[in-house]
Amino acid sequence: MVGTSLAGLRAAQALREAGYDGALTMVGAEPHQPYDRPPLSKEFLQGKAEQDGIALAITDDVAALNADWRLGVPATKLDTAAGTVVLADDTDIPTDGVVIATGGHARHLPGPSVAGVHVLRTLDDAIALRQDLQAGPENVVIIGAGFIGSEVAASCRALGLRVTVVEALADPLAPLLGPELAQVCARLHPENGVSVLYGTKVTGLSTVDGRVSGVRLADGRLLPAEVVVVGIGMRPATDWLTGSGLHLDNGVLTDAGCVTPLANVVAAGDVARYWSAEHDAYVRQEHWTNANDQPAVAVANLLAGRTITHYRASGYFWSKQYDAWIQYAGRTAPTDEIRIIDGSPEERKFVATYHRGDRMTGAFAINSPKIFTRTRKQLRANATDRSS
Ligand code: FAD
Repeated sequence: MVGTSLAGLRAAQALREAGYDGALTMVGAEPHQPYDRPPLSKEFLQGKAEQDGIALAITDDVAALNADWRLGVPATKLDTAAGTVVLADDTDIPTDGVVIATGGHARHLPGPSVAGVHVLRTLDDAIALRQDLQAGPENVVIIGAGFIGSEVAASCRALGLRVTVVEALADPLAPLLGPELAQVCARLHPENGVSVLYGTKVTGLSTVDGRVSGVRLADGRLLPAEVVVVGIGMRPATDWLTGSGLHLDNGVLTDAGCVTPLANVVAAGDVARYWSAEHDAYVRQEHWTNANDQPAVAVANLLAGRTITHYRASGYFWSKQYDAWIQYAGRTAPTDEIRIIDGSPEERKFVATYHRGDRMTGAFAINSPKIFTRTRKQLRANATDRSS
């Protein structure tokens, strides 16, 4: 396993559950045992989850995997001719099979790093950001109003901080949620005292004594900021695979069963861009449930030595912002018709479904987990009916 976060761990568990009893090496760039990332932008930043507490560490019995853990040492090369994975400390690990589960790295602003400017992908990122937020900055600027930027904004408000979000797009969530529900999410920010500057580009930073003091905007304004959080997405961690012969294009390209052109090399989680017949395209997902579910399929095919089963994503994710528990599932288009089936968006408690022709394509909810779960089951049943 290369990558020891959720997808790597789930792949190791699937291997052992399938009866594989040979040597298993877990190679991870981070020094930590597997932990969950979702709390990093939420409870952890707010000081409600501790590094080794229940909410953050994955509490599964990792010792039962009987694996050789190489933590804090990234893989630097997949040598397909020699059949080895090469590590940064120059050790070569012989392999019969490889699971690529290296996820992604946070995107940074161009230029050298500046004190007070943060990204948020890893536990160490979250520790550094939390420390700066706990110092009580007067102004926090968040660049990017995607899910992570929005969650960090909500966490900063929970800490009583003044926050401005700068977003280059006019309506960043509309391509995913459709304009109507994207607007419902966007309204959460001003309702909770956060101003968002949509359609506004950042051109640079101002600094004082090497520390950030402000964010420069394309319209000439300078927003004061003692802490800046850059939430502009991630790039798949594939650098170490350059020259391996695998197809790398915004992730590791695989067939519908997560298998690369080499039958003994599979990919899963945020790094995998698998062929989806449903989408008629290669698809890469950046959600916890995908990283949790996909490894079982990848491993089944790895053990079989060929693709015997295909991956079907549930398309489920959640986000927590302010007092809103947001859930989404399915595969929707911004033009799908939206029906509110329970509650009301004004009260921030409702369930909506998406429809294309006579087909339900997705479900969305705020603060309605029970009805959402029921609707999601119906969505799954409909999808199964159609594919059988
Ligand atoms: P990752 O978690 O990225 O793990 C990959 C691991 O591989 C990392 O430990 C990395 O260091 C390691 N690695 C990289 N390169 C190498 C190398 N060369 N050698 C060895 N190791 C390497 N999803 C939701 O559905 N809901 C949420 O609310 C939510 N919140 C999130 C909040 C934050 C702050 C973040 C960052 C993500 C959130 N996600 C959420 C997304 C979810 O956490 C990811 O989809 C999931 O972590 C992906 O797991 P992964 O194992 O594929 O990749």
